Amino acid sequence: MNLQKSLLIWFAENQRDLPWRRTYDPYQIWISEIMLQQTQMDRVALFFVRWMKEFPDLASLATSSEHKVLKCWEGLGYYSRARNILKAAKLLIADHQGQIPASRKLLQRLPGIGPYTAGAIASISFNRDVPVVDANIERIFARLFNIDLIPKSPAAKKLNWQKAEELLPAGEARNFNQALMELGALVCRPKQPNCSFCPVAAHCLALQYDLIPERPIPKKNTKTIPINMATGVLLHKGLIFIQQRLADDVWGALWEFPGGRMEEGETAEETVIREYLEETELVVRVDSKITTTIHHYTRYKITLHCFIVSLEQSDSDPVLHAAQEFHWLPFEQINQYAFPAGHRKLIQFMKAHKLP
Ligand code: SF4
Repeated sequence: MNLQKSLLIWFAENQRDLPWRRTYDPYQIWISEIMLQQTQMDRVALFFVRWMKEFPDLASLATSSEHKVLKCWEGLGYYSRARNILKAAKLLIADHQGQIPASRKLLQRLPGIGPYTAGAIASISFNRDVPVVDANIERIFARLFNIDLIPKSPAAKKLNWQKAEELLPAGEARNFNQALMELGALVCRPKQPNCSFCPVAAHCLALQYDLIPERPIPKKNTKTIPINMATGVLLHKGLIFIQQRLADDVWGALWEFPGGRMEEGETAEETVIREYLEETELVVRVDSKITTTIHHYTRYKITLHCFIVSLEQSDSDPVLHAAQEFHWLPFEQINQYAFPAGHRKLIQFMKAHKLP
């Protein structure tokens, strides 16, 4: 049996029941594909269901505020994805009569949609004969065709797209592309691929040459970079201070407590005082330590020292230098705002310990 047929039969019998697999609605396929970039499947399943309750269609999304969209995305990370979804939704309403196009070219003109996502929407929703290549498929091809090229190199990328195009059986893109993705998730996994249950094992060159540990070519170990940061929760007259980051930075438009990176020779307490002054012109003193949180972001390990702080001069007003907006609010209302991971951990700690 040829490779395509074996894979399609295997997919029909083994595909998982996922919330976005119960439909070909392009809106739902689009949202699921964006969520699945850089986020694990089980996590996406929870967020996807919640998202669809909040924004069941394009019109409800396009008329929503960025604040609401970011709050619904909170916890998924890489927030530019959510901002791009909202921008694209508005463009689709304004320029495409509220319809998601089937053409790969038109899809790629929308914010946040690259060749992979455009291919996924065009093939899964509209069954257009358009290939897809993502990290899973790159790994499968490296093994299947024994590709001896550095993953992500221009030569490897070109070859992978060419292979995906050649392999695609006409009229079967919807199932074939999903079958490849599913094979990468369930069988041809990054570590310990399950070759005994692989529907395409008879075609796999890496298996034949006993080269699976070498395919794809292993990455050089990238070192984790430690970063020390400090932040302060400013309490004043029973309210806390939060500020909204500038739109164009890495966690743009999310909310935070002022703070930043510790400079050489500085204590965490000194960092908080300096950062408050630089970011808000507020003069604060450090009252007590709350906790230290640790979280990982790409190759960074971020240690965040967290304090309760108060104002040295009680009548001062903030002047924002690193944010677009601020609020004074009761701690109980903090759930209405979206925060980046480190600050969310701090908030969870405060809730668990009944602080402030
Ligand atoms: Fe991957 Fe093994 Fe199948 Fe080859 S035989 S494609 S390595 S699971």
